Amino acid sequence: MRLSWTDLGRPRADKASGRQVEITGFAVGTGALGDDDRFLMMAEPGCCQGCVPRNPLAVIEVLARRPIKIANGALKLSGNWHVSTEADGWRYQLHEADAVKGVTRRMLMAASPLFCLPVPAMAQAADGMAVDLHSHAGNLLQMSFGRGSSSPVAEPMRQGGVSVISLAVVSDSPIIKLTDGRLRPSRDPRPGELYAFSQRSFPALHALAREQGMPIVRTAAELRAARAGQPSLIVASEGADFLEGRIERLDEAYQRWALRHLQLTHYRPNELGDIQTEPAVHDGLTAFGAEVIRRCNAMGIVVDVAHGPFELVKKAAAVTTKPLVLSHTSLTTRPAAWTRRILPDHARAIAATGGVIGIWPVTAYFPNVVAYATDGFAKMVDVVGIDHVGLGTDQLGLVGGSAMPSYADLPQLSAALRTRFNAAETAKLLGGNFRRVFEANVR
Ligand SMILES: [Zn+2]
Ligand SMILES: [Zn+2]
Repeated sequence: MRLSWTDLGRPRADKASGRQVEITGFAVGTGALGDDDRFLMMAEPGCCQGCVPRNPLAVIEVLARRPIKIANGALKLSGNWHVSTEADGWRYQLHEADAVKGVTRRMLMAASPLFCLPVPAMAQAADGMAVDLHSHAGNLLQMSFGRGSSSPVAEPMRQGGVSVISLAVVSDSPIIKLTDGRLRPSRDPRPGELYAFSQRSFPALHALAREQGMPIVRTAAELRAARAGQPSLIVASEGADFLEGRIERLDEAYQRWALRHLQLTHYRPNELGDIQTEPAVHDGLTAFGAEVIRRCNAMGIVVDVAHGPFELVKKAAAVTTKPLVLSHTSLTTRPAAWTRRILPDHARAIAATGGVIGIWPVTAYFPNVVAYATDGFAKMVDVVGIDHVGLGTDQLGLVGGSAMPSYADLPQLSAALRTRFNAAETAKLLGGNFRRVFEANVR
């Protein structure tokens, strides 16, 4: 099978363990270039020493069958794929590797989500204070169904300088399906089905937190204290479908599962409101949706309107007394049909509540981390200002590739942002803005 660099850190790379694979990249780290039978490979040429050692999910250790000619470093290799669980080694190894003919520059460009920038050695972005507004890291989506095993979360966060992630279960998972390249509801849920699913997915999230040694953030003070040296998580739900129209279940989720971040809708027009990717049936927000927002404001749960259409956002902004979050999207001025991107007025409606918009690293929009920073972040800042933009990776939730597949890549993003923003502005974008919004919502 053929592996791509965007598979690394994702279940596809783990499932390939023991299989014969092909991958294209650059040999790095050998010092004197020449024939070698043991070297490291990355997606981009190793333009700086700092690029190599920090990210074990972006490097492959190659053990060649016989010495391989490393001319300009570009290689297409075939070999036996090994996924190591050793804490101090490289996670991915290619054993018995042989060079395959036919590598082109174009293949290499297509292979790489990362764009190498000089990063000071041991740089931790944003002083270890960065926050991800939206994540499914650790393979949470599969584990919610009792499938698969976890992938590393805390370690790449420590390496990259990410202190907290808002880790989301997906409320409508059992009934959404990829249809013609879009996620859509495949059927109506049975009564009780999505509540029952939440009683499996929230425990899976808590088990992941325990396994990774990650404290759960329940209060504003706990968020203030959080640093990347001891990575933490916020319990989030993508979709409030598990409520099934019953407000008392919000109190239950707050108490029992420490829910502090609730996204109203996802890929199913639900009891709370409409979505961007299906025809409107509720004129935006329902009366129950408004009741949930008021209850979240009163209890101290962040309200997230990602996936909601402009009508829902305008109504939510009118109801809420606290800043809103729109955790993962990006700006467009020419929206395609059923897009998850937003227009400038939609973005301004979030900013007007004092809220924050997370930028989504979808490679179809931003092919590498530089485009993610200078196009994704910067264009949103141009519209809503420096105080209303944040990081929303949707890690392990993206249908396509990610311009920032691992938290260990955060210094690369930080370096790319620093070409447009000063240190204080970059710190706001990478976590400060969300920290302000969380503290305004959660006691
Ligand atoms: Zn989403
Ligand atoms: Zn998601």
